[in-house]
Amino acid sequence: MFRCGNVRRTFLYGGVLLPLFLVAAAFAQSPSVDRAEQLLGQARAVETSDVARFSAILQQLNSGSIPLSHEQQLRLRYLNAFQLAYKGDNKDAVLLLDSVIDESSNPTLRLRALSTEVNVLGLSFRYEEAFSKLNQLLDLLPQVTDKPTRLQAMGVSSLLYTEAGQYDLAANSADQMLYEGSTPGDTCRANYVKLFVLHKSGKFSTLDPEVRQAVGICVRAKEPLFANLIRSFIADYEIRHGQFKEAITLLHANARTVRNTHYPRLISEFNEVLARAYWGSGDATRAQEAALDAVSSAIKNEYTEPLALAYKLLYQIEKQQGNFAAALDYHEKYMAADKGYLNSLSTKALAYQTVKQQVLAKKLQVAALNKENRILQLQQALSKKDVEAGRLWIILLLSVLAFIAFLTYRIKRSQLKFMRLARRDGLTGIYNRQHFVTEAERQLQYCRKSTRDACLVLIDLDHFKVVNDTFGHSTGDRVLKRAVEACQAHLRSTDIFGRLGGEEFGILLPECSLEQVVGRVEQLRLAIASVAERDTLDVSVSGSFGVSATEQSGYDLRELLIHADDALYQAKNTGRNRAVVFDASKGDSHEEMRKSRAGAPVVDIADQV
Ligand code: GH3
Ligand code: MG
Ligand code: MG
Repeated sequence: MFRCGNVRRTFLYGGVLLPLFLVAAAFAQSPSVDRAEQLLGQARAVETSDVARFSAILQQLNSGSIPLSHEQQLRLRYLNAFQLAYKGDNKDAVLLLDSVIDESSNPTLRLRALSTEVNVLGLSFRYEEAFSKLNQLLDLLPQVTDKPTRLQAMGVSSLLYTEAGQYDLAANSADQMLYEGSTPGDTCRANYVKLFVLHKSGKFSTLDPEVRQAVGICVRAKEPLFANLIRSFIADYEIRHGQFKEAITLLHANARTVRNTHYPRLISEFNEVLARAYWGSGDATRAQEAALDAVSSAIKNEYTEPLALAYKLLYQIEKQQGNFAAALDYHEKYMAADKGYLNSLSTKALAYQTVKQQVLAKKLQVAALNKENRILQLQQALSKKDVEAGRLWIILLLSVLAFIAFLTYRIKRSQLKFMRLARRDGLTGIYNRQHFVTEAERQLQYCRKSTRDACLVLIDLDHFKVVNDTFGHSTGDRVLKRAVEACQAHLRSTDIFGRLGGEEFGILLPECSLEQVVGRVEQLRLAIASVAERDTLDVSVSGSFGVSATEQSGYDLRELLIHADDALYQAKNTGRNRAVVFDASKGDSHEEMRKSRAGAPVVDIADQV
């Protein structure tokens, strides 16, 4: 397994990769430069490669023994800020960087300070400010010609956009990096940024010949960190396509170089991916070992995707082995990590939207002021001519007021639109997983108080991979939409319908008893089964259903999900295209059935919520 040794604290901690863009050449001095210039250049060159030397140079420059011009003082201040951030003192680093940005008239230095600040704000989870600075950075970018600084800025923006789920914008920045980069190191980093976008947006594929080439480029450029980050994407892809042996071989072949990067995020991710590969190949013991390593090498006090996935796997392993106490413990940890990770994702997305709104509002405000100015000028001209000035003035003022009211209305409307979008699944338009959970929990509380029954239905489309493999992903998407539409035709306005994951859905049916649910689910099953027919596809589309009811499981959503999930497994195991209602009296037999599932990778819907 890959263990994280004595970890040097680097900017890599938070995920936004500053050393990615370390540019030793920046501010390189010409032969005739003075002492101050020489030291500033040297400090910049050893920023992270030789921390002790970097500190020593800064100390010398800060001592005041060497006279510095105003411009040099600002560059020194930037380096001081960099050192503070490197030590983890993000708050003071931001203050210094702000002062550099305000006071410097050198666009290159300002752009570099903005890039570092965006990075540091991202690491401190101050996403709203990060996006606000990103806007300044993008405004400044066209004025700067220094290539390393430009590449640093584009990389930072691409990574932040990716984190906020703005994949098109992120891809544009990455493409621009690829276009402008000239050294092998530039190309390696640009390729990594591009592949990171594809990986996060689910479009990464090893069939793309550029993926393997990108690894080769990074290896030749002596950038093992990026070569291995890309390899972890490859292994993840292979696992999702059932190529467990290939993934295990790839991960093992690069274990040593991964360890040597001392980069916790990569080490934890490698372990987590390896754990999934072992689990997929049926080796529960090694899967458990690797998952435990992933947990211990994860970044402390931070919820990341690998951590959540590692806990999920540990939970599944313990459950399969019948260690229910340990399983429960891991399940709790998984839920906490998963919730933390999802919260940080939605915070980023929301911050992006909020800043976008603020920028829009500012632009509109400026437009309104301009208009007001023009009106005032007009009014002056009119009063000179003394032509019914008073009346016109009032009319014009009223039109300004009307204009401002209109703008306010538009801003409010688009804010509401964004709020709505953040709760919906992009493909099908129904609730996304997070919002489904929130609404279902609210509805269940209401049912509990008013002692009304409710049922929970989990749906997983059968052999959906076959639809994708036979007709392609876009037809797969169409089938997903049709299946949702088919179900919606049979739902009431009070029913809560959400997409929990790829081809998995959840429906909470309030005021529905055990007796009634059978008929309702049968309607849904028939509706899905007729999707292929209506779309004239030569493949069968069907769904398996797992149902639980408050009468048996109580009003706790988690309990309902676990029971419905058990029933869903039963539906899958007894031939698919059917509905199974959880039967509390046969609870044990479900557990038996789970235990007998030999090592196959399972998608456990209840685990995801
Ligand atoms: P079964 O559930 O019956 O065991 O078989 P399955 O083939 O449905 O199994 P699995 O859950 O492993 O596969 C789900 C597939 O759904 C894999 C993935 O490629 C596909 N999928 C997930 N999300 C999407 C999506 O948004 N669009 C399309 N087209 N396919 C998706
Ligand atoms: Mg399925
Ligand atoms: Mg599935």
